[in-house]
Amino acid sequence: MSLEIELDLLRDKFRELVTSNEKISDEVINIIIQRKRSLEVDFHDILMFDKSLADLVVERPKLVLPEADKVVREIVEEKDPETAKALKRFYFRVRGSPLSVSLRKLRSEYIGRLIKIEGIVTRQTPPKHFLYKALYRCTQCGYEIELLQELERHVEPPAKCPRCGASKSFTLVTELSQYIDWQKVIVQERPEDLPPGQLPRSVEVVLLDDLVDTVKPGDIISLTGVVDLTLSELKKGRPPIVTSYIQGVHVDTMNKELVEEITKEDEQKILEISRRPDVRELIIRSIAPSIYGYEEVKEAVACLLFGGNEIVYPDGVRVRGDINILLIGDPGTAKSQLLKFVAKIAPRAVYTTGKGSSAAGLTAAVVRDKLTGEFYLEAGALVLADKGVAVIDEIDKMDAKDRVALHEAMEQNTVSISKAGIVATLNARAAVLAAANPAFGRYLPNRTVAENIDLPVSLLSRFDLIFVIRDEPREEFDSAVAGHILDLHSGKTPEAFRDVLRPDFLRKYIMYARRYVRPILSEEAKERIKAFYLEMRKRYQGPGTAIAITARQLEALIRLTTAEAKMRLSPIAAAEDAERAIRLYLAFLKSVGID
Ligand code: ADP
Ligand code: MG
Repeated sequence: MSLEIELDLLRDKFRELVTSNEKISDEVINIIIQRKRSLEVDFHDILMFDKSLADLVVERPKLVLPEADKVVREIVEEKDPETAKALKRFYFRVRGSPLSVSLRKLRSEYIGRLIKIEGIVTRQTPPKHFLYKALYRCTQCGYEIELLQELERHVEPPAKCPRCGASKSFTLVTELSQYIDWQKVIVQERPEDLPPGQLPRSVEVVLLDDLVDTVKPGDIISLTGVVDLTLSELKKGRPPIVTSYIQGVHVDTMNKELVEEITKEDEQKILEISRRPDVRELIIRSIAPSIYGYEEVKEAVACLLFGGNEIVYPDGVRVRGDINILLIGDPGTAKSQLLKFVAKIAPRAVYTTGKGSSAAGLTAAVVRDKLTGEFYLEAGALVLADKGVAVIDEIDKMDAKDRVALHEAMEQNTVSISKAGIVATLNARAAVLAAANPAFGRYLPNRTVAENIDLPVSLLSRFDLIFVIRDEPREEFDSAVAGHILDLHSGKTPEAFRDVLRPDFLRKYIMYARRYVRPILSEEAKERIKAFYLEMRKRYQGPGTAIAITARQLEALIRLTTAEAKMRLSPIAAAEDAERAIRLYLAFLKSVGID
């Protein structure tokens, strides 16, 4: 059978699929109404319709999908010729593939096949234009030739004019050529999928036409696409090694909060634990039990993990629910160790240092790819940690550029950038847990916090809580820490590890609380917070005080109160929650030397 006939049969099959499946035919009507050009079809529906057609879609997508695209156009044409005429291209976009591949396992066997990957978008080029139908005109005789181009391949005008015989006489007629919008994004393994201690892998993805600008850096996506090769790399005198990329067929942006499934059994156990009268102590105890002491810091960290409520006021103004915490401390006081623990236990976390490992640093940057010279918008740690925790060690060592951008990121929870033709605002709704070493090597108690740490006061005020951890010899504490560490090294279970929650369970508990519990303030809680705030305003006013008490601190108190209530899965933040939040706040003031 010739290929022509086979393609005819193929189109008939697709037509039958679309018309016989009610869901898909409804979707056709839908795209006509909304003037969309993509018919989204679940792979599962193709499989249920015809196994061999589904196999072809997976094994030969480059051959099969263009035929399906034609069918979509035909069907739209029959139903509404006007829409069909107005819109140039239609697509049959398959959602999902039985080949669900982890970015780590993307190998030669998938070349040319339809696969599904999941990951986080880290980079994005501005939209460009793919010259897919080039019109060349002979400058000698005016003869015109139209040539279809392929992605990632070199473009060459015909060498010789077939009519007048002139050589190298063809030039591109840009206004009569045809283009498709094009954009390249880099998709990286999700932070939560990364094997411990491994660097994330990534892949280039080309998005065409109506898929352009449907995702942005920081988005977590599920992508169905065809693995293809960058053939432009195959040049004379070069080894035959090529890079693969994925041509996007369908993109879904995923909900960032659904990191992991919580089973019915998990839920039962979570609710059971939440009813324990000492549930908060239990949780605080379970935060880095290998670190001795620091109960207040651990309680603050627990609050950060549970978080407050994000509020959108009736006038559209949004107030963050994320709690930001800064630890300033002498070297060797287990700051880094605590940060590592949080990075491991938070449902979504990105661990980085102030210096950062990528060009994008903490916020975002426009970077130039070394190999291709292309400009990209690249997401930094806070954008990648959107809806999670950004853990930043040695924040005092960050770049000047990040210092400025961090102000916006920590209060408005967005990162704006405008550079090299790229203008964007990215989401950075992350709680920040940062650690810093003192500027003079040791924390000097007779200086203010701002002097001790090389950070501007405006940035410090973005932290809800700041703790100073000083390493002074204190006999009792030192002896307890020594005993604790020696126990850990002698195979004995220290006291601190008895009756604690296992890290993976604690993680589920936090996830559950963040997803389902949204406490509201009770009248009593409101009164306590208000009284405390007014008292502080009175006491710490005017210049000379290290920490300015403003309405921002009032919001911090509300967040902490809410987090305390979330910890016990309570829909109401009661007076006891407010009291704990106030206690924590006083501990912070005391630790930075205000009391
Ligand atoms: P920092 O980042 O504050 O300079 P690290 O987190 O690197 O310090 O800690 C140094 C070491 O000291 C770690 O191995 C840590 O386990 C140990 N350590 C310090 N304080 C404590 C403590 N209170 N309990 C247990 N271990 C501690
Ligand atoms: Mg450290």
